[in-house]
Amino acid sequence: MTVVKRTSSNGFLANSLKYFYDAAEEMGLEEGLIEILSRSERKLSMSIPVEMDDGTVKVFDGFRVQHSTAVGPSKGGVRFHPNVCLDECEALAMMMTWKCSLAGIPYGGGKGGVCCEPLELSKKEKEKIARTWAARVEPLVGAWTDVPAPDVNTGGPEMVWFMDTISKMRNRLEPAIFTGKPIPLWGSKGRTAATGYGVATCGLELLKAVGAVQEGASVSIQGFGNVGTYAALTFVDAGCKVVAISDITGTYYHKDGLDIRKAVDHVQNVHPKHLLEGFEQDGMEKLDLNDVLYLDVDLFIPAALEGVITKDNADKVKARFIVEAANGPITADADAILNEKGILIVPDFLANAGGVIGSYFEWAQDLGGYFWTEEEYNERLIRIMKENFERVWTYGKEKGIFMRKAAFMVAIERVAEAHRMKGIFL
Ligand code: NAD
Repeated sequence: MTVVKRTSSNGFLANSLKYFYDAAEEMGLEEGLIEILSRSERKLSMSIPVEMDDGTVKVFDGFRVQHSTAVGPSKGGVRFHPNVCLDECEALAMMMTWKCSLAGIPYGGGKGGVCCEPLELSKKEKEKIARTWAARVEPLVGAWTDVPAPDVNTGGPEMVWFMDTISKMRNRLEPAIFTGKPIPLWGSKGRTAATGYGVATCGLELLKAVGAVQEGASVSIQGFGNVGTYAALTFVDAGCKVVAISDITGTYYHKDGLDIRKAVDHVQNVHPKHLLEGFEQDGMEKLDLNDVLYLDVDLFIPAALEGVITKDNADKVKARFIVEAANGPITADADAILNEKGILIVPDFLANAGGVIGSYFEWAQDLGGYFWTEEEYNERLIRIMKENFERVWTYGKEKGIFMRKAAFMVAIERVAEAHRMKGIFL
């Protein structure tokens, strides 16, 4: 390849570019397309001045990156976090392009955020940041141009402030520009469970694909928040045995399977901070925080943070299969070690696509002004997740490659084909 490869001091962007170049090389992608797709179409940096509650003025850095709109409007979340920077947004935007492409939904990839510490902000200050972010990106966002969504530390309230700001600036209601809105304000039934539901669907499809018995298969899950909870419930309903769950308070293990409904009740209704701390079950053992990573189980689901399996601990992982629910839970060098050990991995942008597929459903409902039942939503979600899994699994088998590379290749090809059909203009 004579292409001069981009890289970055930001580990996440460096990793995303490496995976892209490796897959592009394997599939023999045209050099011009490699040059195009290794860059973002637009990168916006903005200042967000806010009058704080104490009367002082603080200026926050905000961003929006549109990696690709070759297939459709760019789609991706807006993150409020101290680590947010342009390179991180670019990496996440690029991954959104591949995630949407792989899911077969009509979107490209985007991502945005504000560098701030939400724990130190009042609700009023967060609202000012959100409304100024929306005003700054107003020329770039739209139901057919760029459709932002929640991400780390943003959710329904921020989406309402974004939507309301843009709607007031344009003097018309713009519900389809933002997804992840509350149900009374053009949100969608089914969205809360969508990602966890989709993750578990991939795990169950993987068991089926390798001929393993689903009934009684053992599962461990790191992180018992939105994704971990709904994945656990789905596994239990399918007859699996969830032997371990964890959150920041430690790992909770029962060799015969945990009572997941009781754990969910504890987190949602008993613990004041919605944690597993204090959860009890006869015969249950409380283990250390990171023990959940090393249990001898059929399926391990990292559903908490990025970078939890690295080259320093990959050797200790004993699970037979891993379904990545979090974004980037396995570093690139750890991925190679796990592959070597024969552990099959369903990559994040295939496994956790339930969230963005759910966003697509919300957008479609908003554009049509007609809302679906939760059953319709779930039935369509599961059908798409199963089809996507099957496509990547079969492609990987045919080419003799691991699922991650197969997923990249399938995703890149769809975007590349759109470019080939349209030719080079912008
Ligand atoms: P969440 O904040 O609801 O839950 C996170 C959970 O992880 C909490 O239980 C927390 O206690 C736990 N946790 C944090 N640090 C931990 C540690 N060191 N060890 C063990 N547990 C720890 O978040 P979520 O919405 O469930 O998202 C989980 C992951 O999935 C994130 O990486 C997120 O980016 C990714 N993701 C989420 C969605 C979605 O729709 N929610 C979609 C795609 C990807």
